[in-house]
Amino acid sequence: MITIALSKGRIFEETLPLLAAAGIVPSEAPESTRKLIIGTNQADVQLIIVRASDVPTYVQYGAADLGVAGKDVLIEHGGQGLYQPLDLEIAKCSLMVAVQNGFDYAEAVKQGARLRIATKYTEQAKEHFASKGVHIDLIKLYGSMELAPLVGLADAIVDLVSTGSTLKANDLVAVEHIRDISSRLVINQSALKLKQARIQPMLDAFTATVNGRKN
Ligand code: ATP
Ligand code: MG
Repeated sequence: MITIALSKGRIFEETLPLLAAAGIVPSEAPESTRKLIIGTNQADVQLIIVRASDVPTYVQYGAADLGVAGKDVLIEHGGQGLYQPLDLEIAKCSLMVAVQNGFDYAEAVKQGARLRIATKYTEQAKEHFASKGVHIDLIKLYGSMELAPLVGLADAIVDLVSTGSTLKANDLVAVEHIRDISSRLVINQSALKLKQARIQPMLDAFTATVNGRKN
């Protein structure tokens, strides 16, 4: 059996065409079932539906052989036990620093004051501000980071931004770009060796599809 870990929503949707290229078609959509294990047209391939941030953990411990996870999630996880052979170039966005409109971020940084940063991406926030020599107090959140500056919980947030419409709707502006984000294929290191005959053709099909889109 080959088990592939995916999260609901954009990653599942954007992975479907890649699976199709490898001849894999799920028998149900995660939105229309409460099942967490979904079969496919291939008797020896199943999908498991997990939280986006849990994908690397399932693959690391071999509970899934493959998975698709955002670079944001992979950096926070650390990537232990995982091969990351392919950037799938899906679920693209950017990790940014954002503040409430009118907050003088440049001045706050220049004065050397401690900044209060609310984020789910604590590792990347620490690394980013350490590299700038800015002292921060980190406030760990699990979602709706945009709210934090509006209610005085934080001076700034570190969050994913794609179109910027959520920032705009909440009177926030992006002030720094930390990195571009896309989702990667992750493979359990021992599964790749033990199940190479089954996994390698999938990897080849995904690679051909991703390369085909670039040309
Ligand atoms: P949850 O919604 O379960 O709390 P999540 O927000 O991390 O978790 P998704 O919203 O499905 O889950 O995001 C999955 C991945 O897609 C993220 O890890 C990131 O790489 C990418 N992503 C997140 N937001 C966007 C966006 N607005 N546009 C494009 N890609 C995004
Ligand atoms: Mg989300």
